[in-house]
Amino acid sequence: MIQKLKIENRVIGFRKFDINEIRKDFPILSREVNGKPLVYFDNAATTQKPNVVIDSIGHYYRYENANIHRGLHFLSEVATEQYENSRLKVKEFINSMSASEIIFTKGTTDGINLLANTMWRANMLNEGDEIIISHMEHHANIVPWQLLGDRKKIVLKVIPINDDGEIIMDEYKKLISSKTKLVSIVHTSNTLGTINPIKEIIDIAHDNKIPVLIDAAQAVSHQKVDVQELDCDFLVFSGHKLFGPTGIGVLYGKAELLNKLPPYQGGGDMIRTVTFEETTFEDIPNKFEAGTPNIVGSIGLGVAIKYLNMFNFNDIAEYENELLQYATNKILEINGIRIIGTAKNKASVISFTVDGIHPYDIGTIIDTDGIAIRTGHHCTQPIMKRYNVPATARASFAFYNTKEEVDVFIKALHKVIKMFS
Ligand code: PLP
Repeated sequence: MIQKLKIENRVIGFRKFDINEIRKDFPILSREVNGKPLVYFDNAATTQKPNVVIDSIGHYYRYENANIHRGLHFLSEVATEQYENSRLKVKEFINSMSASEIIFTKGTTDGINLLANTMWRANMLNEGDEIIISHMEHHANIVPWQLLGDRKKIVLKVIPINDDGEIIMDEYKKLISSKTKLVSIVHTSNTLGTINPIKEIIDIAHDNKIPVLIDAAQAVSHQKVDVQELDCDFLVFSGHKLFGPTGIGVLYGKAELLNKLPPYQGGGDMIRTVTFEETTFEDIPNKFEAGTPNIVGSIGLGVAIKYLNMFNFNDIAEYENELLQYATNKILEINGIRIIGTAKNKASVISFTVDGIHPYDIGTIIDTDGIAIRTGHHCTQPIMKRYNVPATARASFAFYNTKEEVDVFIKALHKVIKMFS
């Protein structure tokens, strides 16, 4: 009965998915660029911020600014409460068991570096051990492990992907050996848009007693990610890709694993006692949050999550999928276009090339029409090599984008092609 009531309350509480109203929440969407209404299709790089997030930052600095944890005065208590409330919001958002499993970081990259720098010190990674990653990883899930290899000679084993940009699961299974000490996988590819079969990947690793780290940088804004349901051991994401501020991110880890890791950085706030001879450390999460953290960033992230919680995530996913299908069909009507990343299960990201036109030219020319897309390797150079392209153009949509914007973009693409023909 309680369960049912709870569900009913939540359904009643969801905000109606009204695209015109949603767009009003994001002030930047009504600005012009180069004399044209902005069409912002670079959401995989960073998302725009709703008024509530922007206002929370100003409000904090105007009325609540103080350092946290260390003060007994009013403002310090308010700031601490806000900071820790944000941790609770993140906990609920990804459904971790406890708020102490939520470590605030600078972002996805910082979270992975934290793990790379502490796992080997906890002997969870040793000389000759293997880490399984996939061919579609962002550099953030490649380079930190390579840097670690300088010290520990860690071997990266790479799961190949098929031509559609999907992980080849049989090859994944073959890579697992007694030397595998971590599987570190991107949930949703920022370049291909592929949504990986994460639960299956985790279950296979766990059958072999291997912990799993999930790079959820792109996933969290497109679908509900539940760490208990997934049973992942670690998960990282960035606030700025979730309609929150830059410079703030999250590392989730199961408490039993985080407790085994040594501190990443030393300094204030992460210690219990310090003498010149010896230091003892705070429990998690403080153990991993040395120095004054990004207080306002975490508050902004909490507000972004509160904003998103107003919506039914299924509405967001459905709408974005509709946009993706619409844009994909329109793009495929254009001669000479090749879409890189055609997985069956895809987020709203379209990477493409056009015969005879460099992606940089596409990006630069359509920018004159106020359209923001990204061109380049998207921090995934191995994907470029896999598809034998120097770069791609990438349009990535958020739930505030519209079919009308897609039409403007397609029209601009036609214009570019005409210029080069
Ligand atoms: N992983 C993925 C899949 C990403 O898309 C990105 C950013 O584009 C990152 C990691 C790195 O995120 P950040 O630069 O916020 O640390």
